[in-house]
Amino acid sequence: MKKILLIATGGTIASKPTGSGLAPQITSEEIISCVPELASLCQVSTLQLCNLDSTNLNCDHWLAMARCIEDNYRDYDGFVITHGTDTMAYSAAALSYLVQNSRKPIVLTGSQKSIYVRDTDARRNLYDAFLYACDEQAHNVHLVFDGKVILGTRARKTRTKSFNAFSSIDYPEIAVVRGGKLVYFVPDTAAYPRYPLFYHALDPKVFVLKLIPGIDPSILTYLKDHYDAVILESFGVGGVPSYNGDSAFTDAIRDWIDSGKTVVITTQVPHEGSDMGVYEVGHSIKNDYGVLENYDMPLEAVVTKIMWILGQTKDPELVRYIFYTPVQKDIIAT
Ligand code: ASP
Repeated sequence: MKKILLIATGGTIASKPTGSGLAPQITSEEIISCVPELASLCQVSTLQLCNLDSTNLNCDHWLAMARCIEDNYRDYDGFVITHGTDTMAYSAAALSYLVQNSRKPIVLTGSQKSIYVRDTDARRNLYDAFLYACDEQAHNVHLVFDGKVILGTRARKTRTKSFNAFSSIDYPEIAVVRGGKLVYFVPDTAAYPRYPLFYHALDPKVFVLKLIPGIDPSILTYLKDHYDAVILESFGVGGVPSYNGDSAFTDAIRDWIDSGKTVVITTQVPHEGSDMGVYEVGHSIKNDYGVLENYDMPLEAVVTKIMWILGQTKDPELVRYIFYTPVQKDIIAT
């Protein structure tokens, strides 16, 4: 029987009502005791890494999750991480960069309702996550939720309340759980090394700026003193404004690039990504200034990939090279 380690971090799945709203209080042991059917799938051990609403997780927690997997890698066949849904897509993406080429599956799951609620989705999601973690064809980092298996670099929370809370962005779901069995749509046929590549550094100084019509470019100058990278969520296929022919916005971007910092243009449109060469408002800034663009990479992956890259190097040419090098299918349509 396979040995799977449950790493509990909190979230709604572990929450109980308090006088001031739901808060994580249920332990990893209690969570497992709610799904006795797991005993027929595998041997489960549990570890309580933290017990937090995922709103309160940051880069340090992602590093701690990766370190916990590294410390226990030889002793288990797979890992299930229970996690709040609000930032689960960021954690899944971060782990996809921090633990690469893992033969053993690393599966994130959670729920929209506490595991103690009568009509909860927690028990099903947990069972499905373990089902996937025990499967021979499962590798690397994935998120399992509402019967879907989604690549760690492609997940996004797209519903705040419904059980089908997560979507796979611009990439098919890897598999679904149907009638208690896994049905694969994208089988993984890669050969894996015995041991994955673990990374231990992230640069948290990454800012996401969502453009709105009429935005004041001086915000970019302020941000430059506080951050190493800025990700501009621009409009459509990607571009930056010049109001009445004014070059203040592009000047501010040039200033960022000239100081060796990273600028990435993404889009606020949920699907199909950027293509900056299409319009004049994107073309020159891409070609003349050396900004990066996300193409089809989801924002959660862009943010954590830049944090991971800047954790290893600040050399702009290397940053560019690594950014456009696919990791776990995070970027395809360049
Ligand atoms: N606020 C919760 C969290 O992210 C929401 C959830 O888990 O569904 O921890």
